[in-house]
Amino acid sequence: MATMESLIGLVNRIQRACTVLGDYGGNEGGSSLPTLWEALPSVAVVGGQSSGKSSVLESIVGRDFLPRGSGIVTRRPLVLQLHKTEKGQAEYGEFLHCPRKRFPDFSSIRKEISDETERITGKSKQISNVPIHLSIYSPNVVNLTLIDLPGMTKVAVEGQPESIVHDIDNMVRSYVDKPNCIILAISPANQDIATSDAIKLAREVDPSGERTFGVLTKLDLMDKGTDALDVIEGRSYRLQHPWVGIVNRSQADINKNVDMMAARRKEREYFASSPEYGHLASKMGSEYLAKLLSKHLEIVIRSRIPSILALIGKTIDELEAELDRLGRPIGGDAGAHLYTILDMCRAFDRVFKEHLDGGRPGGDRIYGVFDNQLPAALKKLPFDRHLSLQNVRKVVSQSDGYQPHLIAPEQGYRRLIDSSLSYFKGPAEASVDAVHFVLKELVRKSINETQELKRFPSLQADIAAAGNESLERFREDSRKTVLRLVDMESSYLTVDFFRKLQKEPEKGVPNTAPKSDRYSEGHFRKIGSDVSSYVHMVSETLRNSIPKAVVNCQVREAKRSLLDRFYARVGSKEKKQLSAMLDEDPSLMEKRQDIAKRLELYKSARNEIDSVAWK
Ligand code: GDP
Ligand code: MG
Repeated sequence: MATMESLIGLVNRIQRACTVLGDYGGNEGGSSLPTLWEALPSVAVVGGQSSGKSSVLESIVGRDFLPRGSGIVTRRPLVLQLHKTEKGQAEYGEFLHCPRKRFPDFSSIRKEISDETERITGKSKQISNVPIHLSIYSPNVVNLTLIDLPGMTKVAVEGQPESIVHDIDNMVRSYVDKPNCIILAISPANQDIATSDAIKLAREVDPSGERTFGVLTKLDLMDKGTDALDVIEGRSYRLQHPWVGIVNRSQADINKNVDMMAARRKEREYFASSPEYGHLASKMGSEYLAKLLSKHLEIVIRSRIPSILALIGKTIDELEAELDRLGRPIGGDAGAHLYTILDMCRAFDRVFKEHLDGGRPGGDRIYGVFDNQLPAALKKLPFDRHLSLQNVRKVVSQSDGYQPHLIAPEQGYRRLIDSSLSYFKGPAEASVDAVHFVLKELVRKSINETQELKRFPSLQADIAAAGNESLERFREDSRKTVLRLVDMESSYLTVDFFRKLQKEPEKGVPNTAPKSDRYSEGHFRKIGSDVSSYVHMVSETLRNSIPKAVVNCQVREAKRSLLDRFYARVGSKEKKQLSAMLDEDPSLMEKRQDIAKRLELYKSARNEIDSVAWK
């Protein structure tokens, strides 16, 4: 069986880890997850101002260590974790906010509590729900965790914000609302129990009284001739647990520096010799209260362990999933870095290919270039103007020179055809550019859509640059190729085409015979129409061959070797350069670190519970 020490010690460790991660009661973050903190059993001390809360805590610890003064002294929750040590060991305190610093004397602990309170709340009388964690190691304590909360008030006094009454109430409730919270409800005996703030709150949040411990302080201050037996014996207000009466040090004792050990002795004597409470003496006093609470806390922890484990398991799953989504941390050596980079490149390449091959949109826009843009551009070429009667006559006459042609103007034809064909360069280059921009856009899109790459902005930029660099090369190659196609059309004309034209009977062109020293209009029309037919035939050919060249040089090449040069470059990099390439977005790194830390906490909590709970 797990010992009481190990169980409470376990919860103490988990609680501290929770605070380090910002997971504590009254969490303002408003996280929807049930926090581990909330699942942990704890004891919260509640009561009106000056009801004796701090005094009870101190007498449980057996030391003076809490700041004193008038007004609201406790302005942040104080999570007080008591650790029992071997007899003869020195006592000391330790704060979570100053790790590894031991506070051997209790006056320095008191000072640190007020300094640390002010660090968050300022000197004003503000309150904050960020807890202060104090561990006390001593042979004179029992293992117990208590949370001291600000005393409930009814009015804001000078210097306090109006909202304070409400704020304190909210903070106290955020602790005691949790079903795992044990409520230590402090009421002074010299006040009517019906007016107790602590009992009023406990009744609200724990109507059955199963997690409320009633503590009656100031028994020694009751009017002579009255006693608190009705309360202590449960007749005034019934709780599941027995009421415990307490006699703390009076203000006069404190002023006289009566030490806690003497006070405990005095308290024992008070009950032992009390005519009213003598029969209950063994179940009264702060020492008894400490043992009672410790034992109860142990039982509660033991019963909660299965549900805590379940919560931890569920949270671990959620955190693992989140970590997968963000990407796991990368191993430290150059090999791991290279592997990661190549892996990212492949992931990007997959997405890019899906865009081209279908599955993702965008590749169809390339077909759009061939099916719409190119034919439209070809159609718009100004052949009508170029092959107008006037221009044909001009070009032919100029080619003839001083000697007009005899039958057919060979030179004229060639010049007209050549100059017409050069018009095709425009649409050819435009197709290359249009496809280039589609590909560039797809690279950009694919980078954004590659989940794995999201965490590496530098690598994203590197891949984008490498992709675009390749696309530029492909564009240049494609441009040369399509211009070459056009050029090829000029370098050798299809003779057959003209032979066939020659045989066709001339429609609507009456007479081609020379009229005096000039050729007839019909003659030039015929030449224009011959050239025009030929150019249209070439246009058809190019409409088919330009897409082939563009796909061959740009699209197919992009699919095949977009990142080839990049791979070669990456392969020759040093470890330092590789890790620089994997430089992550800092906020993401932070988030991952945070999740990893949480995960570690939850996992170690699970291990600890496993090792402690089932012994
Ligand atoms: P808190 O505001 O609830 O933390 O109350 P404190 O613990 O500071 O106590 C308020 C005042 O009541 C102090 O002057 C204590 O000395 C005094 N006091 C608390 N408990 C007792 C008690 O049992 N007997 C006597 N005589 N005085 C007490
Ligand atoms: Mg107090």
